[in-house]
Amino acid sequence: MKILVVGGAGYIGSHMVKRLSQLGCAVTTLDNLSSGHRDAVLYGNFIQGDLADRALLKGLLQPGRFDAVMHFASSIQVGESVQQPAKYYENNVTNTLHLLDAMRESGVQRFIFSSTAATFGEPQYTPMDERHPQAPINPYGRSKLMIEQVLQDYDRAYGLKSVCLRYFNAAGADPDGQLGERHDPETHLIPLVLQAASGRRADIAVFGRDYDTPDGTCIRDYIHINDLCEAHWLALQSLMQGAQSQRYNLGNGNGFSVQEVIDTAIRVTGQPIAVRDAPRRDGDPARLVADATLARQQLGWQPQFADLATMVRHAWGWEKQRP
Ligand code: UDP
Repeated sequence: MKILVVGGAGYIGSHMVKRLSQLGCAVTTLDNLSSGHRDAVLYGNFIQGDLADRALLKGLLQPGRFDAVMHFASSIQVGESVQQPAKYYENNVTNTLHLLDAMRESGVQRFIFSSTAATFGEPQYTPMDERHPQAPINPYGRSKLMIEQVLQDYDRAYGLKSVCLRYFNAAGADPDGQLGERHDPETHLIPLVLQAASGRRADIAVFGRDYDTPDGTCIRDYIHINDLCEAHWLALQSLMQGAQSQRYNLGNGNGFSVQEVIDTAIRVTGQPIAVRDAPRRDGDPARLVADATLARQQLGWQPQFADLATMVRHAWGWEKQRP
């Protein structure tokens, strides 16, 4: 199978490129390296380019060249999306439309889209299944929901088949230690906690201890990067076998609090971790937990690394030797 991975130099995309290549796919990565890393693309062809470059897309997406496109390239920081919404609508919506146009012109009819729990907004119930209303509360979530809606229209009008995968909290790293999370600036909890453990930063700030949760800190559903990649692979296979377009929530169905993540990191690393209490971060719901029953039933998805300690252990393996 010939797959174009857009954003293949980023955290999730780079793991996907490795996985697809090991499964025997011919992979081409397109990435503008605005946040990804060239040395994270361990397999296949690499093209540095931007989705705003329509001529590049037209040249790249020649008829017959790709069987499917996986799209990981987007801006992902909620706070920044509130400050700079134009960047989010440009990168996440306009540029995705360019990609979809190029796919239409070249006849590529299968698309796997990285969506997010942020399309749901404030939870009305947990765990959240696909029937949960989608009412995003920030431009990041809205930009992803817009593309989900575009994809429904494009299926109806153009027959483009897609799977939207709504990630809860992607975590962990390549168990072989070759790849991991390398955002700059880093905003995600687990890498920050591990940087506090390794001495790369002084401490970890806990954003709020007054939530309505057992220990007062926010609860999230962490999902191992390899389990996430497996879901993409299964989704791709389902489309290859003629499945209809679909949307799946992806998480383990287990919530862990910020404090539990820190306690787990102390246990796994054997290092002291300095903790500092900080105010709540805007737009953080108290509890986000996925109900991924549909993905299990329809795709046969079975997480292999559902245990938080395993995710932290793999992320720690990466943190200790990352560039
Ligand atoms: N968090 C925290 N300190 C940090 C970064 C994150 O307490 O330095 C909390 C954040 O408020 C949220 C959880 O950790 O409750 C997970 O945040 P992250 O940014 O990793 O993912 P998100 O849930 O925003 O997708």
